[in-house]
Amino acid sequence: MRSFRYERSIDPGRAVALVAGEPDAAYLGGGTNLVDLMKLGVARPGLLVDVTRLPLGSVESLPDGGLRIGATVRNSDLAAHPTVRREFPMLARALLAGASGQLRNMATVGGNLLQRTRCYYFQDVSRPCNKREPGAGCSALEGQNRELAILGWSPQCVATHPSDMAVALVALDAVVEVLEPGGARDIPLAEFHRLPGERPDQETTLAPGGLVTAVRIPALPFARRSAYRKARDRASFAFAAGSVAAAIDLDGRLVRDVRLGWGAVAHRPWRPRLAEAALRGQPATEETFRLAAEEELAAARPLAHNAFKVPLIRNLTVRTLMELVEQPADPASGSAEVYR
Ligand SMILES: Cc1cc2nc3c(=O)[nH]c(=O)nc-3n(C[C@H](O)[C@H](O)[C@H](O)COP(=O)(O)OP(=O)(O)OC[C@H]3O[C@@H](n4cnc5c(N)ncnc54)[C@H](O)[C@@H]3O)c2cc1C
Ligand code: SF4
Repeated sequence: MRSFRYERSIDPGRAVALVAGEPDAAYLGGGTNLVDLMKLGVARPGLLVDVTRLPLGSVESLPDGGLRIGATVRNSDLAAHPTVRREFPMLARALLAGASGQLRNMATVGGNLLQRTRCYYFQDVSRPCNKREPGAGCSALEGQNRELAILGWSPQCVATHPSDMAVALVALDAVVEVLEPGGARDIPLAEFHRLPGERPDQETTLAPGGLVTAVRIPALPFARRSAYRKARDRASFAFAAGSVAAAIDLDGRLVRDVRLGWGAVAHRPWRPRLAEAALRGQPATEETFRLAAEEELAAARPLAHNAFKVPLIRNLTVRTLMELVEQPADPASGSAEVYR
């Protein structure tokens, strides 16, 4: 592993100045992804700026019913937060579906959003990878691509974004608050992660040196009736083969409104807006849910080893929405079992 310098900052502006001032500097959150990549030789920062002592560690309720989550809040603390559990159960469930208890105790919200793909070839420095080295080629396109994308990929990269948390956040219309060398701004989460296109090495719309300071979730009363469902190869400690976050607002037997997020299908957490549009005003039935998912999945382009993801995502969408439709009218009263 390359030797590196370590700095700890308590001021966000100073942290940004440090990272923006050196091309090979990186922020260090819980280190659960970055340090692994350093050991593999995939990441070779010369300077690490530890962000965990920045004053970004709180969860605040906003006057309109929304929530502001500091970037250094640990994944386990966020999953256990009473407001998250009551108002946004899909987020609590997505967090608890990720990694292991020990990892969630370390992982931060900012680091979770910025975690890198789990594509095998990205993590193996002996294999060509356009994300690690632009122009080198993509080993996964004709290689082992079972875990990789079915939507939005390009011939340059077919990787997926691995975060569970981000799938719930994209469905909730979350906004990422960032501090960049040019100042502070808000980026809708749906626009925070990029599709690979010609530049898979550029993973987000964050400016170089940009620091995630918080994530804001706007009020969404019907998110009390929400859930996250993840399919994976092992019951725990495994990344998603596919996942669905969903919230539904019912008007009798009709869908008044709905929010969806799909995970492990694309280079970014996927917001299936066509499926959402197809559901509004329709009867809340298994058949409608299936047709809506299929409408979105018409654009899917499976790779040699991952055609199974198309029916997987369709079926997860149907099951998650049916679970919500079958919940009692006040879902918060029935949610205890989920967190046991
Ligand atoms: C065995 C294992 C299993 C896992 N399983 C899952 C899973 O099932 N689901 C899942 O979602 N995740 C899973 N993970 C990934 C885990 O969730 C991430 O490693 C973790 O969320 C990263 O957070 P961190 O704070 O440790 O980030 P770090 O490792 O510290 O940093 C990750 C990246 O984010 C950047 N960064 C950190 N903070 C900021 C900030 N505030 N602003 C800008 N950039 C920042 C760093 O520079 C780095 O590039 C797993 C990890 C392991 C090791
Ligand atoms: S899919 Fe992306 S990350 Fe994986 S080898 Fe190809 S370019 Fe690299």
